[in-house]
Amino acid sequence: MGAVDQAWQESVYSDGHFHRPAAGGTIPVRDKASGEIFAVSGLAAEADVDLAVAAAAAAQPAWSERTYAERAAVLRGAAAALADRAKQFRDLIIRETGCIGGKADYEIGAATSELVEAAGLASRATGEVLPSSHPGRFSLSERVPIGLIGAITPWNFPLVLGMRVIAPALALGNAVLLKPSPETPVTGGLAIAALFEDAGLPAGLFQVLPGDVEVGQRLVTHPDVAMVHFTGSTKVGRQIAQTAGRLLKKVSLELGGNNALIVLDDADLDQAAMIGAWSSFHYQGQTCITAGRHIVQRGIADAYAAALAARADAISVGNTFTDDVGLGPMINSIQLERAAAMLAEAVRDGARIIAGGTTDGPFFRPTVVTNISPSSLLWTEEIFAPVAPIMVVGDDDEAAAVANDTEYGLVNSVLTGDTYRGIRLARRLRAGMVHVNDATPQDEALAPFGGIGQSGLGGRSGGDANIEEFTQRRWLTVTEGPAHYPY
Ligand code: NAD
Repeated sequence: MGAVDQAWQESVYSDGHFHRPAAGGTIPVRDKASGEIFAVSGLAAEADVDLAVAAAAAAQPAWSERTYAERAAVLRGAAAALADRAKQFRDLIIRETGCIGGKADYEIGAATSELVEAAGLASRATGEVLPSSHPGRFSLSERVPIGLIGAITPWNFPLVLGMRVIAPALALGNAVLLKPSPETPVTGGLAIAALFEDAGLPAGLFQVLPGDVEVGQRLVTHPDVAMVHFTGSTKVGRQIAQTAGRLLKKVSLELGGNNALIVLDDADLDQAAMIGAWSSFHYQGQTCITAGRHIVQRGIADAYAAALAARADAISVGNTFTDDVGLGPMINSIQLERAAAMLAEAVRDGARIIAGGTTDGPFFRPTVVTNISPSSLLWTEEIFAPVAPIMVVGDDDEAAAVANDTEYGLVNSVLTGDTYRGIRLARRLRAGMVHVNDATPQDEALAPFGGIGQSGLGGRSGGDANIEEFTQRRWLTVTEGPAHYPY
């Protein structure tokens, strides 16, 4: 099974059904390498959002009262459905996101872990019995669902970034309204709906509303949507936070990064170059946890730059669906041209391209840059392309200072032959995540994923952090006998 299910075509998914025509029309879904339109999604409009919210509001209270075992069974069923549909998902992720098979396999595995871990979470949202200063009072803090959760997701890892919200939110008794990116409405939304339909999720609890700004804004402003979980750029996240602030609505933001890979002078050179190449070039550098800055100590800098350039030159680039290549196309021409312009600006500022630097249609060759100016956008901003700028530093203090000189704070890595030196430096880095002797792109369903500063606001995704994220506390008291008051 490699094709799009006919039922999904031109549809939105609401109230337990694939509906067409969608109120907003349709969105063509392109194979990112060939440009071929291989599916047509429905495009939601405000009317679809309002109907979906009404259906979710009607369904959520009964869902929250189901036993945890019933909710967990649906999540395990969705994991089984994903295993059954793995070949279909693999082909669709490759075509819709323009990635290699390995990244599609990763997404399927990670989404399965999210479902399995969420099934376990359904029984773990425990409360507490509190000591009380009132004699005879039974005082409880219990966990209750938030209600209706609007999820807005990007195009780069559409299946797993959707699932890391949907699975725990449903497990904990909420309903979810998902707006995937218009670049990836199939594996970011409609195909996920099919999994929950296969698993027997009651109607109304999960809705897919493909669309862009208008649909996203309606989800954020709808008075019945109690929380918005947004994954995407810092620029859009800031707008969403402003709107949510005005409405006093809970918001959780997983945003962009400009992550540092620090290579200390005692690191193994080949290992460091391999980790550096993966950190910057994996999926064309289009992940929030891509290394956008290589901070390298002087003693190893020239050799590291040469080794990284050799690895970049050895990577094949092309159509990942038809050919066995290492990197695929950029997601669209806007992203490609933006990255090319940042590279050109850096060269005008004195940077030197020692590998790559060229584009061909939708393809961007993996690129290594030295002599980067600290004020170039290529250094200060998220690149979202396979470009590795290298800056040379002296001691560990300078490495930490340069790494921390950013408004972002998502992830950093430290590569060293001395693990404790690595830990000491890692603890000085201002970011939500840090890895010693591994690449910057890391994610596990149980680990608290998220950033600080301009990289995120709200809690963390993963493991028990999801309980904080998708439930709220209710204080419940029971008093024995009639309480006595002065009037
Ligand atoms: P984007 O911010 O352009 O769009 C993200 C989502 O928001 C899309 O669904 C889009 O349609 C929607 N949207 C756009 N404008 C909106 C508005 N005004 N109101 C409501 N919704 C709106 O990001 P993108 O280009 O899809 O994804 C790339 C970005 O996502 C990068 O910055 C990357 O770092 C970030 N990202 C972060 C994480 C993380 O976990 N921190 C993970 C993946 C991607």
